[in-house]
Amino acid sequence: MNRSLSIQLLWITTIALILSACGNNTATVANPSPVAQLKGAETTATDPRDDQRLAMHESAVSDIDTHRDVPFYQISGTINPKGLTWQAHQTVTFINQSGTALDRLYFRLYPNLADMGGALTISAARVNDTAVTVQYESDNYIARIDVPAPIATDATTTVTLDFVTTVPKKGGKDLFGTLYFDKHSISLPSAYPLLANNKGGTWDLAIPNSNGDLVTSPEAMYDVTTTIPNGYTLVSTGTATATTKTDATQTIRVVSGLQRDFMLSATNNPHVSAVVDGTTISMYYPNDDVDGANLALGYASTALHLFNTTIGQYPFNELDMVTSNSGSFEGIEYPGIVMYSQDYFNTQSDFEDLVVHEVGHQWFYNVIGNDVQQHAWVDESMTTYTQVLYADSVHGTETGRKAIQMFSSDYDQIRDSSDDRKLDSPIDAFDEDTYSLISYYKGALYIDAIRSQIGEQAFAQALKTYYANNRYAIVDGTAFLAAAQSACNCDIQPLYNQWVLGE
Ligand SMILES: [Zn+2]
Repeated sequence: MNRSLSIQLLWITTIALILSACGNNTATVANPSPVAQLKGAETTATDPRDDQRLAMHESAVSDIDTHRDVPFYQISGTINPKGLTWQAHQTVTFINQSGTALDRLYFRLYPNLADMGGALTISAARVNDTAVTVQYESDNYIARIDVPAPIATDATTTVTLDFVTTVPKKGGKDLFGTLYFDKHSISLPSAYPLLANNKGGTWDLAIPNSNGDLVTSPEAMYDVTTTIPNGYTLVSTGTATATTKTDATQTIRVVSGLQRDFMLSATNNPHVSAVVDGTTISMYYPNDDVDGANLALGYASTALHLFNTTIGQYPFNELDMVTSNSGSFEGIEYPGIVMYSQDYFNTQSDFEDLVVHEVGHQWFYNVIGNDVQQHAWVDESMTTYTQVLYADSVHGTETGRKAIQMFSSDYDQIRDSSDDRKLDSPIDAFDEDTYSLISYYKGALYIDAIRSQIGEQAFAQALKTYYANNRYAIVDGTAFLAAAQSACNCDIQPLYNQWVLGE
């Protein structure tokens, strides 16, 4: 996520890239590699999870076979853009990995959060084919289902839910802004019942603080079939595998690959696309601003290639970019798709930073996950630092140092004051401004302090090790500490204690 509170760098260098204005929305789908032996007796050639490989970059296809135990969401529904609804049927199959028997299940209904301004209503529910009742809690944010019989540890359970999600009719700056409708687009982020996290028998049901990102969730697989009116394009997490058409509608099946969440949008905005290292990047742009679209596509393409090289390969075939004209964010990341505010789209001096930041989140937040409410600095510090990596590479190290100086002078506003906080603070410990100053800028300064201490070579290795060791995991700040210490073969715990723990 990115919210602006101060003047950032004005990039003056433009990037020359070969970009293609594109009316063809068919992305390149890597041929799935043959799989020698699938895990589990039920995983035959007819297992729909096999198709999840179609969303993965050719270098990451086998990750599907090593992560077959993740929750599997199969959703089929219809988006009615003018009616502002998504009506759908969802089946989620999951293994109870909480370590304890469960007598109930909880789902998070993000559209019902007051700041989202929408609604998600479940009209029917079944657990392993037995009809059950849904009880709403926490102002309808939580749906509770008492299961007919306790779910044993490691047992597989199937929950089917019929639901309707409604998007707010009017946007506005007082809303979060991502559950969105205008005359061109309808956007549905985290707009389905999302299984709540359970760690060691304890459910995380806290209402998220909307000063930051909202969704922490483990990797899952999504197989989503959506009917939309002709004239719209479905833009979403994942890769389309099949489309059928009638005179009035089109039905598109999408597979996500290993993703933490699923975001979908139907838009009649035009787009430009480019293919970078085997990944198709598409920018669906507002206001016929094709120049802005090509700028965004160029920045994103350069960033994607740079991060592929310096951190590790983006593991998906597609990365999409859409816009919203609501809420107070500049940009926000979802798995395989990012959203920019139309107010900031090619209008602000830090547009390049913004694009790079949201692309960087695909490595930090999406592939390497963290608790975005309790430890928001873990992804925001690394993602803000991707702006420095980008500046170093594209504009020269002097520009990278200027970015660091800018972060430092922003953080100086509260450094050593009563508003200063240790990095490892929950979002609730901040107001809107101090959240950014600490989690983003102080966080990036901490990463830079590590770089200064261990040197360029070890820092470059630390980035690669961090990514290689923690793909698809949910980590805290000790994971990058461990990667950096192994890269330098040195002790940087004092830096961690000082910046992160405030000791
Ligand atoms: Zn961010």
